[in-house]
Amino acid sequence: SDHRLTYPASPALMDWSSHYPAFVAPDTQSVAKDHAGVKPLTKPVTVADIGCGFGGLLVALSPLLPDELILGLEIRTQVTEYVEDRISALRSQCADRSPRPYQNISCLRANTMKFLPNFFARGQLSHIFLCFPDPHFKARKHKARIVSSTLCAEYAYVLRPGGCVYTITDVEELGEWMRSRFEAFGNSGVGGEDEGGESGEGRAEGMFETIELPEEGKEGEWVDEGGQKGLVAMLVRCIREETEEGKKVTRNGGKRFVSVFRRREDPAWP
Ligand code: SAM
Repeated sequence: SDHRLTYPASPALMDWSSHYPAFVAPDTQSVAKDHAGVKPLTKPVTVADIGCGFGGLLVALSPLLPDELILGLEIRTQVTEYVEDRISALRSQCADRSPRPYQNISCLRANTMKFLPNFFARGQLSHIFLCFPDPHFKARKHKARIVSSTLCAEYAYVLRPGGCVYTITDVEELGEWMRSRFEAFGNSGVGGEDEGGESGEGRAEGMFETIELPEEGKEGEWVDEGGQKGLVAMLVRCIREETEEGKKVTRNGGKRFVSVFRRREDPAWP
């Protein structure tokens, strides 16, 4: 349970060096004094896969986003250990290749419903993945869902303006729930559950803009203006096909409900 989870008091105190050894800054002497011995990296983590399960998406993203540091967060101890072993096996199998692959992915045990801002500073992340989150069907269990107005506030805080949240589920009702929470957030102060996702007249735009997606299989036909859409299409294909749960849906011939929300610029954000 949570009392056995370890997490830093603030993002500056998080030591990522054992997660991304290939990206530890060469001279760490002076900074180490300032941050209680934390060895800094040459760049921050910018991609989070929340509830990463067995790590299929991390492994697929590694070569697709070679310039980003990608972190899977998972609450189950044994699953986290499995992913850590999977990544270290991949790293050692490919140790003779240059540049060495799979150095940019790692996994951490965490309850992301509680400690996300302990790991990531404001505006640090470019992409957040919420892939096949547990549906918690019963109404009294809805508070355990990883999308709520409280958690939308945390996702908005750790995402940079222009950064995206990607959601996918095979439960249509959960897909609609996630969409209504993201679309309502910031519409009327806090937004969310009580407003039922409606944006009332005269209200400000929400914090997140829903991106219209191409049909499954037609991602290639999507008109790409500034390069952003091509990236989104590639990542959407990836969450459909490379997550363990997405593969299961393919095998069973089921449906997948995908949404992407872009965080708006928000000068009024405190
Ligand atoms: N994303 C993976 C995929 O698409 O194949 C796994 C999906 S699985 C249905 C949901 C995962 O979220 C489980 O591995 C579960 O342990 C994890 N999880 C649930 N609540 C969590 C939380 N609060 N923090 C971190 N992980 C969580």
